[in-house]
Formats: sequence, structure tokens, C-alpha cells
Amino acid sequence: MDFRGRQKKLRAVLDEQKLDALIVTHLPNVRYLCGFTGSAAVLLAAPRPLFFTDGRYAEQAASQVDGARVSIATKGMVPALAAACAKARLKRIAIESEHLTVAQLSELEKVLGKGIKLVRLAGAVEQLRAQKDAAEVELLRNAVNLSSRLFRPLLKTMRGGAAESAVAGKLEFMARRAGAERMSFETIVASGKRSALPHGVASSAKLPAQGFVVLDYGVVLDGYCSDMTRTVHLSKASPESRRLYLAVLDAQQAAIGAVRAGVTAGEIDRAARQELRRMKLDRFFTHSTGHGVGLEIHEFPRLAAGSDTILQPGMVITIEPGVYLPGKCGIRIEDMLLVTERGYDILTPVSKELLELN
Ligand code: ZN
Ligand code: ZN
Repeated sequence: MDFRGRQKKLRAVLDEQKLDALIVTHLPNVRYLCGFTGSAAVLLAAPRPLFFTDGRYAEQAASQVDGARVSIATKGMVPALAAACAKARLKRIAIESEHLTVAQLSELEKVLGKGIKLVRLAGAVEQLRAQKDAAEVELLRNAVNLSSRLFRPLLKTMRGGAAESAVAGKLEFMARRAGAERMSFETIVASGKRSALPHGVASSAKLPAQGFVVLDYGVVLDGYCSDMTRTVHLSKASPESRRLYLAVLDAQQAAIGAVRAGVTAGEIDRAARQELRRMKLDRFFTHSTGHGVGLEIHEFPRLAAGSDTILQPGMVITIEPGVYLPGKCGIRIEDMLLVTERGYDILTPVSKELLELN
């Protein structure tokens, strides 16, 4: 991974805003910038980058951290950080305003003292992370492929009367056995009426003999997340259920068809919504169309109504419209895509035909 190249890009962003440094506290950002995967770390992204961790991680930091000097903070990270800032004569230092807690900020202000200005900066590293490099795309493909391979075997565990939690448990066991570090979020198995809950995590509810089941899951592999949704039908679908399913599939395909570098995230969202409006279903599509995926499951950009974020080549995003009829049923279909100069590359290799399971 090109940690130094990433830090250089961040440097340019900081220079532009006349900032001497950024105190990076959000762990996925720390990992992105210097490779450290542990659970306690601060990176002082300054002309001479400094990485702080505690004694537990001395060995791991020495082997992982690239592009920053490693310092083991024996008396707490904030005092160590303050001393480093004073020594390097840093004056205008940015903090990650979306991640630092109020308590951490007050402690920092107290130890840093006057003469140093803390500037609130939001999303600087997240913006860089949105455009994946070739090595990251490779890791994302690996994560997507692992989770996709589990889909067919998962269907075999699904029959009327099985608990949603049992289906999720089998999936998660298969994922770990296949090498996943963990699931990238709480597995969603939402069956029957529960499929109308857009975020119906697997419960003790039993799968019905007939009806939709929304399966939304992903794995983490080498730190990178996958995310996919398929909605299947237990026994034969009624003509109305089939009509709903095909409407969601059309909306998903319309949104996918609109993806390419240079269009806004809002245009992608609109493409999905327009398709559903044609079928008078748009008011049942109650969330945004997609999101970036990478080291975290939900990343910049958000593909939401009105968003003017411009898609860039190398962004990896989801497209996941859904329709939810309260008390009745819900359907969502989600793929991961790589945005390219001319269009897109669908990463998720799983069929989207309506499956009627017996
Ligand atoms: Zn998902
Ligand atoms: Zn998603």
C-alpha cells in the first residue's frame, strides 16, 4: 500500500488550508495513512509524521507503521501528542471534528495551551479514501467474491420454520470458515412481514412457508468490507409480489446504468426514484440509493437525493434501492460497483433473477 503517497495527498489538502498538521484519531483513517491495524493509535500528520500508540502495540506498530516515526506513549497519548506539537512548533493544527469526542477536545485544548490553534476539519481523509487505488480495488474484489460464494450454500439453509438467527448463524460460520475476519455489519435476515423493515437484523422470528426474505450481509477481508443484498421468495411468488420485485430490479438497473465518472451522486439516486415513480412505488423507497464502501462499511460518498458530490473513477459504491410496504413485505437488491471513466464495473457476481425457493 502506498502510505507515503496518501500522506502526500493529505499534506496538499492541509497546505491549502494553511494547516501545519492534522491529528488523526479515527482508526480507519490512521490505518489508511500508515498501515496500523490495532485499536489504540493517533497519527500526527505533520511535515514529520509521528505515530503514537501504547505499550501493548509496540511490536505490532514497529512492523506495520509505514511513513511515520513510532512513539510509545507511556503516560497517555494526549500528553505525548502535546509535547510533540510543541517541539515541532506546530501552530495551526486540525482535528477530525467528526470523530474527536468533546472530552478529548477539552483535554487537548488544556494540554496544548495557548499559542496553538485547533481547527475543526471534517472529512479530509475520508475524501481521499473515496477513490480507491488498484491495490484496494483488488482487496475489495476479494471481499465481494468471498461473500458472493456463500450465497448459494446459504439458500440451502432457508426453509419455512427456520429461525432468521439460525440462517444468519450459518452464514457467519461459513464466512469465518472461508477466511473472513468478521462480518462487515450485523447480518440482516428479514423474512415475511419483517422484510418491510429496511434494517431488519436477524431475529428469533421464523421464516414463513411463503414470502420474501431480504438477505443483506458482507464480510471483512484484509480490512476491506463487502456489502450485498438479495431478496428471495419462499415458494411461489404471487403476480403482485413478482411485479414488486421486478420494479425494484428495474430501479436498481436504472441507477446502475446512470453510473459513470462525472455525474453527481444525486443523479444516480434520481434514476432509481424515477423508475419507482413510474410504478407508483417511489413513496415506499425510504432510504438513500447507496454509499461508498472500503475500510468501513459506510463511507463517503453518500448516494442520496440532491447530493452534488461528483462521482470519480476509482470510487467503490453500492446501488441498493428498495421498496417497503409496511405490514406486508419489502424488497431490496444491492450490488457493489467500481466507478470507471466511462461507466462502471459491477463487482457482485450474483444473479438477480427472482429466486423462488422450495
Ligand atoms: Zn447492504
Ligand atoms: Zn449497503
